[in-house]
Amino acid sequence: MKIGIGEDCVRQIRAHGEEMYPYECCGFMLGHLVDGAKEVHALRKANNDATEPKERRFLITPMAYMQAEKAARADGMDIIGFYHSHPDHPAEPSQYDLDHAWPVLSYVIVSVQQGKSTDLTSWILNADRSAFDAEMVDAT
Ligand SMILES: [Zn+2]
Repeated sequence: MKIGIGEDCVRQIRAHGEEMYPYECCGFMLGHLVDGAKEVHALRKANNDATEPKERRFLITPMAYMQAEKAARADGMDIIGFYHSHPDHPAEPSQYDLDHAWPVLSYVIVSVQQGKSTDLTSWILNADRSAFDAEMVDAT
């Protein structure tokens, strides 16, 4: 699988991660599915509503999801996935991420080391939901 993310959106994800450091940032990726390929055209920041350590977790409420979906539809787009940051941790999904992941949606993770964004990766649940598969990120 491959996910196209506009250069501007990549910059915004990195900036949001750096802004929220040392906490995890999170948000929605909005766009289109074109011939089975995902294209991210816009972002929508979300509050991290995790009550547990926000350095290690993020939580988006169902209400926030519904509002984002409504806003996306109004602009002729769909929710393609979520992005979030991993402060001082690699850009790889945690067990928590796996336990809370939804199928079909993409999960972009940006690693923020000492306040500076580094690796950016994208993941999608595999068919039996036991693990994530990496997606190729095409930043254009
Ligand atoms: Zn995570």
